[in-house]
Amino acid sequence: MMPDHGERKDATPATARHNHSVLAELPFDDRQDFADAARGFIASLPEMTLKRSDGRVVYSLTDYAFLSRSDAPDTVNPSLWRQARLNMHHGLFQVSERIYQVRGFDISNMTIIEGERGIIVIDPLISTETASAALELYCRHRGRKPVTAVIYSHSHVVHFGGVRGVIDGADVAAGNVIIIAPDRFMEEVTKENVLAGTPMVRRAMFQFGATLPKGERAQVDAGLGKVTSRGTVTLIPPTQTIKEPIEVHRIDGIEMLFQLAPDTEAPCEMHMFYPALRALNLAENATHNLHNIYPIRGAQVRDANAWAKYLNEARDRFARNADVVFAQHHWPIWGNARLLDYLAKQRDAYKYLHDQTLRLMNHGLTAAEIAERLTYPNSLAREWHVRGYYGTISHNAKAVYQRYLGWYDANPANLNPLPPRARSRKSLAYMGGAAAAISRARADFAAGEYRWVADVMSQVVFAEPDNCEARELCADALEQLGYQAESATWRNAYLLGAQELRGNETADKGTARASDIVRSLTLELFFDLLAVRLNGDKAAGRSMVINWRFPDTGERYVLTLENCALTYLAERHHEDAEATVELDRSTLNGLMLRELPLPEAMEKGLVRIAGDAAKLAELFAILDDFTMAFEVIEPLRRKS
Ligand SMILES: [Zn+2]
Repeated sequence: MMPDHGERKDATPATARHNHSVLAELPFDDRQDFADAARGFIASLPEMTLKRSDGRVVYSLTDYAFLSRSDAPDTVNPSLWRQARLNMHHGLFQVSERIYQVRGFDISNMTIIEGERGIIVIDPLISTETASAALELYCRHRGRKPVTAVIYSHSHVVHFGGVRGVIDGADVAAGNVIIIAPDRFMEEVTKENVLAGTPMVRRAMFQFGATLPKGERAQVDAGLGKVTSRGTVTLIPPTQTIKEPIEVHRIDGIEMLFQLAPDTEAPCEMHMFYPALRALNLAENATHNLHNIYPIRGAQVRDANAWAKYLNEARDRFARNADVVFAQHHWPIWGNARLLDYLAKQRDAYKYLHDQTLRLMNHGLTAAEIAERLTYPNSLAREWHVRGYYGTISHNAKAVYQRYLGWYDANPANLNPLPPRARSRKSLAYMGGAAAAISRARADFAAGEYRWVADVMSQVVFAEPDNCEARELCADALEQLGYQAESATWRNAYLLGAQELRGNETADKGTARASDIVRSLTLELFFDLLAVRLNGDKAAGRSMVINWRFPDTGERYVLTLENCALTYLAERHHEDAEATVELDRSTLNGLMLRELPLPEAMEKGLVRIAGDAAKLAELFAILDDFTMAFEVIEPLRRKS
């Protein structure tokens, strides 16, 4: 482990100059967002720190007190500083008649609509702790009413994880509460986070900066909100899904028009219009920042064209009859003329990004060249709500390219280059060794060439991971890039990279998968996950066929291992299987959650094996376990 050089540096003169120049480029005297973010405020908690029952802090705004000053320090881009201050608004807000939001109790908003018998909760935040605190705040000021319905606007955990903090599973089972979600909700919830879940959680640390300290030289915001809460994640499956492009329902006396918007910000997402309330809820498709066509935590690339299309349809069908538009992040926009203008610009930001990337691609430019070239037209550039606090034009343009043409730029020199470590060693030798490279990089650092210094010093680190000088210079360059970034996610990534290069271990490498989500996995996904864990090297030369029977659900599968690949067929059993495994789905859940060890389950007769029991043990012995504790900014230290 590297010694802790730990100290966070000051902004260099080049960074200070860069950040000052932003003040002249953007309309900082436009204070409308501050008025909107504060409008309708009713109350909040005197101290905004929420804890788990064991006392661990789940979410806190207390560490952000430094954001009370209005002028940005040199170590933060003033545009991001402004957004970070806007995202500090927290508490219960009235949006319009019958519509309330709790904001700043998590990275997302909880929207509450007052129905005839009780209240409808839209998106119960990430954790039960933050969700129950948000509901409690509402009740204290608006009276205690039963929750009659919960609506999940889309399949991201930020919008459902706290559900057991606002309702009880028994009430859902008894039919006292309905839960509504867009089509394919359960499928998408489990799909996104399971097969690639481990690296996604590790990479999300770079995107959100949840494990970074808060401060002028550290995390200031996440763009979409302050930070993600880290409490108890739950899930109760919907009782009803929206399947048609447009559906009209009366929920607790409130008429709601649901518009499916698939393949936008999430694979399944929906907008809602409440005609009698003249209010439009756009889930997460129109927020006060340019969103991600590709989040840097890693995910499948989203469809910017579909995003623009569904926003356009919502604007055309609903917005004309709306007095307010809001989303499940950030603050609303009031007034019909303003909201139509807002939605036109939101729509056009995604459309422009999509079309101009394709245009330049059709002229032969590569992803990196397009990302470098593309900027907003003047009519969008000065609109705060399309600025890149979360997504950026740069990484989104690369994502659009990837969606159509993939990772390869068609230059055969880039088709099969040496992998990072080997490439770095060769480059370094050509440069005349680490010392020569570092000395040239110091001159470039002094000239403010941080992108290049970070790039080339990272190569030195990959060639010589223990080279402290290279690590420190790489960290210094990343840090200045972080200080200059308008995007919160870029800032967080740069600063966490710098922190890890300086040898500060990221203390908390993430949490276990929520048990509600594990219980919701389809068996197909369970077998897919098993197959992903199969160690191809250890499987060499082995073959087996195992039948699986789940008496409680009546499901059957046959699992085949050959050629180091694990495949399965549903509704099938093989006559010549070496073993047949019989267990209830609930037992499988216990095994997956590691609440029940396999030997104990077998001893108790919960797992019954007919045939060659050793085959199952053989299979489990060649499955890998994954850990979040892998290196990102340097070569992997552990062999996999
Ligand atoms: Zn989302």
